[in-house]
Parts: sequence; structure tokens; C-alpha cells
Amino acid sequence: SKRSVAAGSLRASIDDENADSGRVRVAVRLRPKNAEDFPFDADFTDCVELQPELNRLKLRKNNWSSESYKFDEVFTESASQRRVYEAVAKPVVESILEGYNGTVMAYGQTGTGKTYTVGRLGKDDPSERGIMVRALEDIIANTNSNFDSVAVSYLQLYLESVQDLLAPEKTNIPIVEDPKTGEVSLPGASLVEIRDLDHSLELLQIGEANRYAANTKLNTESSRSHAILVVHVRRSLKKKEENDASSLASALNGDLPSFSMPIVQKSKLLVVDLAGSERIDKSGSEGHMLEEAKFINLSLTSLGKCINALAENGPHIPTRDSKLTRLLRDSFGGTARTSLIITIGPSARHYSETASTIMFGQRAMKIVNTIKLKEE
Ligand code: ADP
Repeated sequence: SKRSVAAGSLRASIDDENADSGRVRVAVRLRPKNAEDFPFDADFTDCVELQPELNRLKLRKNNWSSESYKFDEVFTESASQRRVYEAVAKPVVESILEGYNGTVMAYGQTGTGKTYTVGRLGKDDPSERGIMVRALEDIIANTNSNFDSVAVSYLQLYLESVQDLLAPEKTNIPIVEDPKTGEVSLPGASLVEIRDLDHSLELLQIGEANRYAANTKLNTESSRSHAILVVHVRRSLKKKEENDASSLASALNGDLPSFSMPIVQKSKLLVVDLAGSERIDKSGSEGHMLEEAKFINLSLTSLGKCINALAENGPHIPTRDSKLTRLLRDSFGGTARTSLIITIGPSARHYSETASTIMFGQRAMKIVNTIKLKEE
């Protein structure tokens, strides 16, 4: 798609070449087999069969019946982290660099590779780096540290409370929404300007350690919370403007040098490692576990409702039902780009969870983000 930045306050307009580009893109990734996937029933071990060349996935209920589903991208267990990043997150990162908000989310049962896909740092082996590191790397490489700024917040959402993973003493951070612009912000959260890739890795590592420590203290597991990396990108487009149209025009007119206001382009990327999507048994849980179950079910259910409403092009997207969807509000739908990666394991033991993850992804496939002019 082509975007042009006009002088003044109009941020961007899109002449959309690809009518499909506004839809939420949905990829599925199959985790390699591990020891726990092995024989449950010798006759029926795997319930998933992939046809990556057709972007199709076959889900077998038993040896006699199967259903086939189409996705935007189907990654086998041997797909590299690089390939997954390039197909799933890079298009969103590119639109962030052009001034749009966007979201990349991983959804799936615990143990299927969400954190591997999204949060892996790959300290010993850069080829293992996940989406968060690669996105920051790309953004740093495509911005100019003299004019632009890249800053991150790293949060955890647990029991409907926003916690700061870069400053663990900050909990219950309020989500603020600008009534005029609809812009969502977290003024209570740390916002750290990134210097370079090493600095980004350091921050991600601090966040990961704090996530682990916070959850140990709360006596829960990381898979029970949502981790959210927010990357704020602010770019000054003044240089570019001066180099083309305006300087030429003023030269032709014999004008005094123009002191045009720099155009500041602001955008925001959210990378979300969602809590495990497995059904948590509310009836069997008590106390703390019951609270967890209720809140995870609430946020994932409300995310599902928003996805359904977007898919049906409904007039009302119910983002107010949970903190998760309130946080996503301005990065989800509208002019924002969204990619969802659903992660699954191969084992027939988890057929019903795998089926429910696939259905979640199928509903998201229908979303079309209507692209419209946006003014600042
Ligand atoms: P989740 O975040 O969904 O609970 P994890 O990302 O922790 O799952 O993955 C579970 C285990 O499987 C981890 O040991 C992880 O390293 C491994 N794993 C997941 N996906 C892959 C993959 N594509 N390639 C290699 N190992 C993987």
C-alpha cells in the first residue's frame, strides 16, 4: 500500500493496493514434538496435519473424521524464528514505521510455544530470537537516533491489575484513555528510551526476570498472566520534507526560507504474549485459583468477543469489558494493523484445546480493519 504524508496535521492517507491488507492476519504455528506428546493412544497420536504449501491445517478428531482450515500462514515445527517474524510481525512493524499503530499477539494453550515465539531472547543464539527482539531490532535499524525516539514499556496483566515489569513496585497502574483522540496510555508505567539493541535485550531480560519473580511471589505461573511490550516510536519527518517539495517551492517563489513545523509522527506497537488459553476449571478451583480462572477467562473471552465483533463488522466493539481489551483499544481495529499467531501442539491428547484455539483463529480471520484518513 502507498501512504503519503501531507504537510500540516494530516497524518497519512492510504491508497490501498491490496484490499485484503486491512484484515487481521492469522498464522498458526505447530510446536515440535516433546516427551509429553508421546503415545497416549498408540493408534491415534497426532491430531494435526499441516499442508503448508496450501496454508491449510487438518485437524483430526479421530481416525475417521477430520476438518480442514485455511490460515494466512501455516508454520510447521521446523519453521525458523526468522520466517515466523518476517511473515507475522514484519508487516506490522513496517506500518508502525509509517505512523500506524499495530498489534502482534500470540494465543494458545500453555506449553505450545507462545513465549518461545514472542519472548525468546536468544542470548546464546541470535537465530532463536523471538518477535519482541526482532521487532525492536528492526525499529532501531529503521529510525534515526538523532531525530527519532524509540521507548518501551513492559507490562504484565494479572488479575485485572497492570504491573510494571521494568519497575516491579509499580502495580495497579491505571489505563487512561484520551476522550478526544481515543488514545490509550499508561502514565504510571515506566517508559524507557532505547539506545541500541543491547539495551533492548537488557530491558527485555529485566522484564522477564521480574515477570518470573512477581509470579513466584504471587504464587502463580507466568502462563497465568498476559505480558505486553509497548513500543512507542516518535519520528520527526522534518528532514525529509525540507529535502523535497517545500524547499523547492520556496526556492521557485523566491520566498524566505520557510520555518515549517516539523511533522511528528507517533505510533505504537503492542506485542502480547497472552495467558494460556486452556479452559480453567472454575468449579474445581477455590480462592486464589478461582480468582485467576475468572480473570483469565474474562480477558480471553472479551478478546474473543472483540474479535467476533470486528469480524462481523459490528458497530460496537466491546473493548471495555476487560483491562486487556482496553489496553488494545487503539492498537486494534480501525487504522491499526493486527497479526495473531496461534500456537498448537500436535498431540491428540489435547484435541479439544487445539480445536478451540483453531476456532479462535478462524474467527479472527474474518476481521477487516477499515482504513480511513486519520487526523491528529
Ligand atoms: P507457552 O509460552 O505457550 O506456554 P513455551 O514457549 O514456554 O510455551 O514453549 C514450551 C516449550 O516448548 C519450551 O521448552 C519451548 O522452548 C519449546 N518450544 C516451543 N516452540 C518451539 C519451537 N518452535 N521450536 C523449538 N522449541 C519450541
